Amino acid sequence: MGNLGATELIIIILIILIFFGSKKIPELAAGLGKGMKEFRKATREIQDDQEESAPALKAPQQDTTVCYYCNARVAKDARFCPSCGKSLAPPRCSKCQRVNTIGAKFCAECGEKL
Ligand SMILES: [Zn+2]
Ligand SMILES: [Zn+2]
Repeated sequence: MGNLGATELIIIILIILIFFGSKKIPELAAGLGKGMKEFRKATREIQDDQEESAPALKAPQQDTTVCYYCNARVAKDARFCPSCGKSLAPPRCSKCQRVNTIGAKFCAECGEKL
């Protein structure tokens, strides 16, 4: 009975497929094939993207800043530019203690020479 039941089940599935699914099967197969193709293409593009952008991402961009004076790449926590030797910390006014923008010659608050 067990074997017969399995055979019957297969026949039922086949009947269902023939009556309801046969028209859909090529569509499904095509859709699946197209989907797989698109998926592979997308995957390949992502891989290509990663390969292309990987060296750029690995560049120490996050840990560096650009020197205000000479545009040299310097470490973010560096106090002085190794290229031009100028201070990279924002100048603090000795008179009013205002922190001015890097490269400012005079205090924006009181006009004191920095
Ligand atoms: Zn510099
Ligand atoms: Zn000041």
